[in-house]
Parts: sequence; C-alpha cells; structure tokens
Amino acid sequence: LKSRGSNAWQVFEQEMLAYQGEHQALEQALRHAVADESFSQFSLDYQPICETRSLRVIGCEALLRWRHPERGLVSPGEFISLAESSGLIVPLGYWVLEEACRRAAGWPVPWRVHVNLSVCQMQNDDLPERVAAILARTGLAPWRLVLEVTESILIVHYERHARMLDTLRAGGVSVALDDFGTGYSSLTHLRKLPFDWLKLDIMFIAELESDGNSREVVAALLSMCHALGLSVVAEGIETEAQRRILENQGCEAMQGYLLGRPMPAHKIDLLAAEAQAVQ
Ligand code: C2E
Ligand code: MG
Ligand code: MG
Ligand code: MG
Repeated sequence: LKSRGSNAWQVFEQEMLAYQGEHQALEQALRHAVADESFSQFSLDYQPICETRSLRVIGCEALLRWRHPERGLVSPGEFISLAESSGLIVPLGYWVLEEACRRAAGWPVPWRVHVNLSVCQMQNDDLPERVAAILARTGLAPWRLVLEVTESILIVHYERHARMLDTLRAGGVSVALDDFGTGYSSLTHLRKLPFDWLKLDIMFIAELESDGNSREVVAALLSMCHALGLSVVAEGIETEAQRRILENQGCEAMQGYLLGRPMPAHKIDLLAAEAQAVQ
C-alpha cells in the first residue's frame, strides 16, 4: 500500500471507500425497507396534471417518497437508481402500482393516475399480467392508468419492450414517454413505439420565455406529436408566461409547481372531493 505513494492517492482511496461504504449502507437500508411487508417507510405524493385551457385537473402523477427512520426523507434522485441497480425496484414498483391504483379507484372523479415504470420492471414477461391483476384487485378502470416509461426502454431489448407496451395497451392501459428530450430518443422511435402521451421534459420549458429558438423547437415538437396522434403533457411549468406560451402552441396538458406541487395522498383526496363538488 505504501508503495502507491502519493498522498493524493490515499485521500482519493479513502474517499472512494467512504463513498462505497455510504452507498452500501444506503442500499442495505433500502433492502431492509422493502423487506418490510407493509412498506411503512414509503409513501406516494401526487402531483396534479391539468388541461391547459381550462386548468381542470385531468390526472395525477404518483411520485415515490422514502422516509428513512434516521436519515429522514431520501430524494428519489438518490434512491431510485439504487433501487434499480439492486433490483429492489421490482417489488417496490409493484407496491407503487397497487397503492396508486387503489388510491385513484377511491377518487369520486375519474382522474387518471400516472405511475413511473422502471425499465427493470419490464425485464419480466409477467408485467402485463401483474398489472391486470392489480387493476382487478383495486377496481381501477384500465383506461385510468397511465404508465410512464423513459427513453432508456428504447435502447436495449427494444423489440421486446415494444411488444410489452402493445400488450399493456391491448389491456386498455395508456403509456407515456417520460422526460422526452433528455436521452436518446430520436424521432424514429416516436414513429415506431406505441405511446399515447409524451411528456415534454422540464429542460425545454425552462427556456421558453427567454429563448425564441426554444419556442420554435417546442412548437415543432408539438405539431409533430399531434401529427403522430400523441397528446403532450409539458413538465415543470412554473410561471404563467410559460403556461400561456404552451396554450398558444396547442399543448393539451401540463404539470408543474404553477398548477400544484406534489402533495400527500390525503390532500389529493380533498382536491378530488372539491372537483366533484363543482362538477
Ligand atoms: P419524473 O417522472 O419526471 O417526475 C417529475 C419530477 O419533476 C418530480 O420529481 C417532480 O416533483 C418534479 N417537478 C414537478 N413539477 C416541477 C416544477 O414545476 N419544477 C421543478 N423543478 N420540478 C418539478 P421527484 O418527485 O423528485 O421525482 C424524480 C424522479 O424520480 C421522477 O421523475 C421519476 O423518474 C423518479 N420516480 C419517482 N417515483 C418513482 C416511482 O414510483 N418509480 C420509478 N421507477 N421512478 C420514480
Ligand atoms: Mg414521470
Ligand atoms: Mg418526467
Ligand atoms: Mg423529469
């Protein structure tokens, strides 16, 4: 070890070990939390998705939250990738699906519920069957479930994933392409893959007001999506100016802090009750 010499190396090595230790500790904690049959460290927040013109809520996205007893809230940015690399996302993802479907089935208004699906969950061929079983158990109408997948499904095992999405859609479930524009999806994929919705990433939205080129790009993407029969949800709407630009460009739905932050289930239940009252 001594012969490795430099001080900088030793510091690096110590930091690496500390990092690995932290990584392993967090994974261990996650494993422990998923092993708990009641999934008591997990909860779902729900964020409204609104129709652009009327601002009426048409659905909600379920967003997973993990509260570790000592560490407190761990951000999805930290634990989702860990759940994926360890395979824990599979049991966790089924819990999310069932929880979100059960919640949505209890709303007095027929809002859709969007659930994020990891590519790992698509490795198992029984996914469509299990989704159907969850819908049957919870009593949620299939058309009210929207599965959000990211562009990574377009890269490996592309054919298989496309078939699986077809099977899911044949069962009445909708599929959304999430975070469009951040990854590898080319326009070719849009043409070939069976999606109902496309979610335009926040990255495009953030520059809408300041950058004319961004507006042109978004306008072109919207017209292309519409020509392909896809509806668009814009993500990360934070200002009224952004909302107005997207309304003028014909974007049908939006999600973002301007319209509502992710909120705990009991709050979204209240919103659903209010929405029913004004109907
Ligand atoms: P996502 O699916 O793209 O979800 C949208 C993210 O944008 C959420 O972050 C949401 O809180 C955030 N967001 C919404 N409106 C705004 C806004 O106006 N401004 C800004 N700056 N951000 C906004 P969150 O909850 O931290 O989740 C991050 C990611 O974690 C999600 O991105 C999704 O990829 C993943 N994730 C969350 N829950 C699950 C899950 O149950 N399963 C899987 N596989 N992934 C999940
Ligand atoms: Mg999503
Ligand atoms: Mg997204
Ligand atoms: Mg995103």
